Amino acid sequence: MTALLYIGITIATVLFMEFVAWFAHKYVMHGFLWDWHEDHHLPHHEKDGFFEKNDLFFLVFAIPSMASYIIGSVTPHFWVLFIGVGISIYGLIYFLIHDVYIHQRFKWFRQLDSKYSRAILRAHGAHHAKREKEDGESFGLLIVNPKYFRKRSEWKQEAS
Ligand SMILES: [Zn+2]
Ligand SMILES: [Zn+2]
Repeated sequence: MTALLYIGITIATVLFMEFVAWFAHKYVMHGFLWDWHEDHHLPHHEKDGFFEKNDLFFLVFAIPSMASYIIGSVTPHFWVLFIGVGISIYGLIYFLIHDVYIHQRFKWFRQLDSKYSRAILRAHGAHHAKREKEDGESFGLLIVNPKYFRKRSEWKQEAS
């Protein structure tokens, strides 16, 4: 039974992290920490080097994860460790989908193609269509507006 509980905590944390990432992206990264996120919205040719200032957010999200590992290990609350596991898994998913699949920082699984993967590309593409801090759209990563499952030409018509 406990194993199921730990798996449940891990899955719940992964799902909750999509909300946390959406919230942080919308209100923190496009808010008072725009200065760290701005270079992620630069077009490719205006960037230099492999790293972006935006990568600092990976370190920021590593803090609650590490804290959970420590609390889970040194206190009687072992279950807290699985919050840390969930945050790590989400971080890995985020890296693989956002940094590798969408932005192709590594040339892996570019051939991936499905209705869902296209929807994610369209949604994040719509987010990157704006280079400014304000009036962005589509701040989440894995949960996207259903309109992105249709072709861009179709949902643009609908909006006008
Ligand atoms: Zn952004
Ligand atoms: Zn991006």
